Amino acid sequence: MATVSNLNRVNRSYEVIIAPGAGFCHGVEVAVEKALHIAKNRKNGHIFLDGELVHNREVGNQLRAQGVQLLEEHSKVCPEDIIIIRAHGISPQRRFYLERLGCEIMDCTCPLVGRIAKIIGAHSGHPIILLGDRDHAEVEGLCGYSKNIHVCENLAEFAQLIDAVPQKDRISESISGDKYTNSGEMNTWILVCQSTLDVDFLEAAKNLCDQKNFPIEIFDTICGATKQRQRGLRMLENCDAVIVVGGKHSANTKRLYEKIKQKIMAVFWIENAKNLAEIDLSPYRKIGITAGTSTPQNVLRKIYGEISKK
Ligand code: SF4
Repeated sequence: MATVSNLNRVNRSYEVIIAPGAGFCHGVEVAVEKALHIAKNRKNGHIFLDGELVHNREVGNQLRAQGVQLLEEHSKVCPEDIIIIRAHGISPQRRFYLERLGCEIMDCTCPLVGRIAKIIGAHSGHPIILLGDRDHAEVEGLCGYSKNIHVCENLAEFAQLIDAVPQKDRISESISGDKYTNSGEMNTWILVCQSTLDVDFLEAAKNLCDQKNFPIEIFDTICGATKQRQRGLRMLENCDAVIVVGGKHSANTKRLYEKIKQKIMAVFWIENAKNLAEIDLSPYRKIGITAGTSTPQNVLRKIYGEISKK
């Protein structure tokens, strides 16, 4: 199937470039397909979503149109209902709560988020640093997998945290390769990332640990789709203006916006084609477009089509 990225072209008014990989990632695609399938084929009972399936208004509207509703505090859940778990995943505590409601649970957690949860769970006895957005659903869910987890949203927070770790709580390595803290405990510091983290943030955190000689085991858990979209921004660096498409709560869209903003003055963050009316593109000739992993291809096509008509 032709993707929106294949549509790059020059038209009379604008040269339009679409960044590689822009739009839906595999994890989101599977989650949306699963949820829509179940919504369209369900004969009995209600279908509830435990939070937004993905951070995109169009997807939310599509699901609502199929009768899917958000699970609220006051929602009455019956055994014939289904609760869908969002692509960002949830904490084990939340899962336990949902299971006790007594209906079927359909898990749409992206397996790559599930992998991060497994790493945290497997190291729950260790101090863990999670790089990411404290208030994001994925991070909130992941925090439920360990009692000893520290979230750092930026490099300053990370530096402050590792500086505050006393020498006695840092690990050393014995000649035999065993790791232990200077106070004698097996206590390796572990680092994981939100799946949609800025790759430069992780790189900077790694360098800081090297500079400060801070021993830590690092798991690069940024997903491939995120890396591909962040790399794809390089193609847009020569544009006069860039349009970033995605939901306002989408972490990876925010990252794309922030990163390209460092290179280009005119960057516009919109959610759909209607928002184009609020932007004046007339001073620009070469327009770049990218989109977060929760932006459907049809939204991207519409935006491309609208700009091409101008
Ligand atoms: S952005 Fe990455 S982790 Fe998130 S749903 Fe897509 S593939 Fe999965």
